[in-house]
Amino acid sequence: MSQLDSGAVAKSRVAIIGGGVCGLACAVSLQQAGFEVQVFEATTAYGQVGAGIGLGPNAVRALEAMGILEPLLQRLPQGNHFVKGFLFYCGLRDHQLVYDYPAAPELPNVNMQRAAFLEALSSQLLDLHSINFGKRCMSVTESSTNSGALNIYFTDGTTHIADVVLGADGIKSTIRNFIVNSGASMGGAAVQRSRRAVFSNTVYYRGMVPYSALLAAGFKTPMSDRPACFVGPNKHIVFIAIKPRDLVMVSASSTNYNVPLGTESLPEESTWVDDVPRDELQKDFDGWGPDVSILLGLMPEKVSRWSLRVVHPPLENYTRGRVALLGDAAHGMLPHLGAGAGQGLEDALLLVRLLKRPETNRDNLPAVLQTYSDVRRPRAQAVWEVSDRAGRVYDFHGPHGSTPEGLREDLEDICAPIWHYDLDRDLESAIEMLRANGSFAH
Ligand SMILES: Cc1cc2nc3c(=O)[nH]c(=O)nc-3n(C[C@H](O)[C@H](O)[C@H](O)COP(=O)(O)OP(=O)(O)OC[C@H]3O[C@@H](n4cnc5c(N)ncnc54)[C@H](O)[C@@H]3O)c2cc1C
Repeated sequence: MSQLDSGAVAKSRVAIIGGGVCGLACAVSLQQAGFEVQVFEATTAYGQVGAGIGLGPNAVRALEAMGILEPLLQRLPQGNHFVKGFLFYCGLRDHQLVYDYPAAPELPNVNMQRAAFLEALSSQLLDLHSINFGKRCMSVTESSTNSGALNIYFTDGTTHIADVVLGADGIKSTIRNFIVNSGASMGGAAVQRSRRAVFSNTVYYRGMVPYSALLAAGFKTPMSDRPACFVGPNKHIVFIAIKPRDLVMVSASSTNYNVPLGTESLPEESTWVDDVPRDELQKDFDGWGPDVSILLGLMPEKVSRWSLRVVHPPLENYTRGRVALLGDAAHGMLPHLGAGAGQGLEDALLLVRLLKRPETNRDNLPAVLQTYSDVRRPRAQAVWEVSDRAGRVYDFHGPHGSTPEGLREDLEDICAPIWHYDLDRDLESAIEMLRANGSFAH
């Protein structure tokens, strides 16, 4: 029996707000399961350039379980897409190797340009007209006239009606207001928009450096196709050589540990990414070792600076009624373990699996979404915390301090709880809970 024949929730109109990594993955998978899905994306098109995105073993398995991995892999160059491990060097003085996070040839890992990833996902949509660009959602309300329906309002003055709304609108989520301000009216006020998205006290400087110029300047730290990281007090620098393109991708992180998370504010409407002179970055890393000076000295004259925000304190719920959050909208975290998108993909997988269950129907839909939230919140929050801890360890604020032995102790297996997660168990737990509370028949 197909989902549409089952009389289940597949006849519902699903609106996904945000066509980023998680929204698109969810849309493709739901469409393939027979759902009527519309995606509303604020930008007018996907950019052609953009940073790379790395998907760890759990994220790759989630894509596979959603049936959308293969077309992505076809777009990647032939090669070995497995965990290559991370090399940690001291950022100060002689740049000694402090820890070699071992490669794991048995664990899949995919790295690709974000724009290419989004393009590959959107090409899998069964209905190409189901992605609506240039549609910035302002608010969502429960219809007072049409029971169970949700009205979605856009900044261009248009509206859309849906039975289920999935908020995949990223860290600056508008849909989060509907969840956080439970019971309160939605106005789209700026102050509400920022709710729970706080400045992480971390800025990220990003840029590319020519690989050959680095070698010519006497850079001595070994470079391979493995990502590497200079660690040091309050800061670290992640770098990876993309040799075929003669480039090294550099992300330099600098954190103010003197202020508690959530107390340092940025102007509400300030841009989160701006260009700053290279001098600012060099000053920030003043006194670091010779290879750091070479690396940063070769960065472009203007580097892009990201003021990273995170969801904090954690949401008490990812859902309200027939509206649910996924991805960064629910649990935006620091990028220190490259785990954020993976958590959103795990969310998407559980949502899709639950929505397409034959037992799911319009009446029990709020209970199904509530169970999704109950299962996903502890997992995503645990990954949020380990990502935060990783940054502290790189920045010499780890529990075992800054000696090579202490760093090794803190870094060993730090990714294991993220990578070795049983995705099927999420579904089993959710079904057990839904049966226990009577939403699903035994
Ligand atoms: C520097 C950096 C490096 C990272 N590296 C990695 C990595 O290697 N691996 C990894 O797993 N994660 C990484 N992350 C985290 C990852 O980028 C996020 O977790 C992931 O993009 C979240 O996906 P999402 O779909 O939830 O949100 P997003 O990717 O932010 O997508 C949200 C979408 O919603 C749209 N939108 C926003 N508001 C509205 C609105 N009101 N109406 C309609 N549309 C709207 C946006 O335009 C956007 O397209 C990194 C993050 C940063 C900052």
